[in-house]
Amino acid sequence: MDTTSNCKGCRESVRLSPEEIATLFRNTVQDVDLPLVTVEEYEIRIEHCRHCEALQYGTTCKYCGCIVEIKSKLQHAKCPYPYAPKW
Ligand code: SF4
Repeated sequence: MDTTSNCKGCRESVRLSPEEIATLFRNTVQDVDLPLVTVEEYEIRIEHCRHCEALQYGTTCKYCGCIVEIKSKLQHAKCPYPYAPKW
C-alpha cells in the first residue's frame, strides 16, 4: 500500500521545496515574532522527525498536518506522536 495515501486531504501537490518552506516560515512565524527554540534544540527535534514513520512527503507530520521544519522551531510546539511524543 502506498503510505502517502493514508491522509484523506493530502495529495502529491502538497510537496514543498525548501524555498517554499522558508517562505512559509517567514510569512507565518518569523513575521509575528513567535518564540523559537535554539538551533541545538531544533536539530534534536528535526532529527526525530526525519526518522519518524509519521513523516510524509519528507516535510509533513501525518498526525498534525504540520510542516515539521516549521513546527519544530516553535518553542511551545509539541510532537503529537500518540502516547509517546518524540520531542
Ligand atoms: S510524530 Fe512527532 S517526530 Fe513524528 S513527524 Fe510528527 S512531529 Fe515529527
